[in-house]
Amino acid sequence: MMNLCDIREVRALLGRHGFHFSKSLGQNFLVADWVPREIAAAGGGDGTCGVLEIGPGIGCLTRELCKQAAKVVSVELDPALPPVLAETMAGAENFTLISGDVLKLDVPALVDEHFQNLTPLVCANLPYNVASPILKALVEANRFQTITVMVQREVALRLAAKPGTGDYGVLSVYMQYHTQPEILFDVPPDCFLPAPKVTSSVIQCRVRETPAVSPACGEEFFFQTVKAAFALRRKTLCNSLCTAFGSRLGKEGVAEAIAQCGLSPTVRGEALSMEEFAALADSLWTAVQAKK
Ligand code: SAM
Repeated sequence: MMNLCDIREVRALLGRHGFHFSKSLGQNFLVADWVPREIAAAGGGDGTCGVLEIGPGIGCLTRELCKQAAKVVSVELDPALPPVLAETMAGAENFTLISGDVLKLDVPALVDEHFQNLTPLVCANLPYNVASPILKALVEANRFQTITVMVQREVALRLAAKPGTGDYGVLSVYMQYHTQPEILFDVPPDCFLPAPKVTSSVIQCRVRETPAVSPACGEEFFFQTVKAAFALRRKTLCNSLCTAFGSRLGKEGVAEAIAQCGLSPTVRGEALSMEEFAALADSLWTAVQAKK
């Protein structure tokens, strides 16, 4: 069997298929055998699981996943890769390839069709340029028990960031509202072909059965509040919230809503915990309803 982590074998394979790496598709293939092994061990489940992989590339992680899980479904956007995968994944009977853009797929329908009676998981080395929208689509699909992915270290730090740190932002609150992200390990650039400029990290997001908080104002208004709180990072929470709520409540109304939930008038949005965001959103919601 071809060794997909031997650079000479990989170059010969790609040459035979006339394949050229695409930067815009985030194509950095793993060529260090410990990495796909460790990723699959961390997030590839067992014989009771169905794994969705986004971007199989030439299949080195896919092969590891197929050894562990009952079924593996991989979605690949680059039309040049299915002929390569037909060669590298030949004989893997629990493997299904779907050609297309994961961002345009009906992910819940895919899971329901392919993973009946299995625990659905995600395990993938994501294309870095679209990692955040893909993660959001996977969370919104509301089907997966865990989402284990490799992303740029910088993105992993944002996903797992705690309040009061420079990495903490809307993406952190979004992911931590729905999941419990944990950074597992780093992967240096020399593990990839071609080598990216940045370090990568594998992060596991365990999906919560119920969101981290349940504000009375509802999810949509909660996230409107979170986005507004981070709109002007260098300003006070009051000034930042005025970008979204100033026209409805006036600056005094916004300040009053902040005071009502026990927060300091000079606090910055980036210091707020999930629970404080929930209390703030409810306080703003009450003020907005009172103005109607
Ligand atoms: N899994 C392989 C590995 O670890 O070596 C390849 C990972 S590479 C970082 C990302 C892969 O995602 C590429 O194969 C790329 O063609 C594919 N890809 C990029 N955008 C995609 C999208 N929107 N939907 C599905 N696949 C995509």
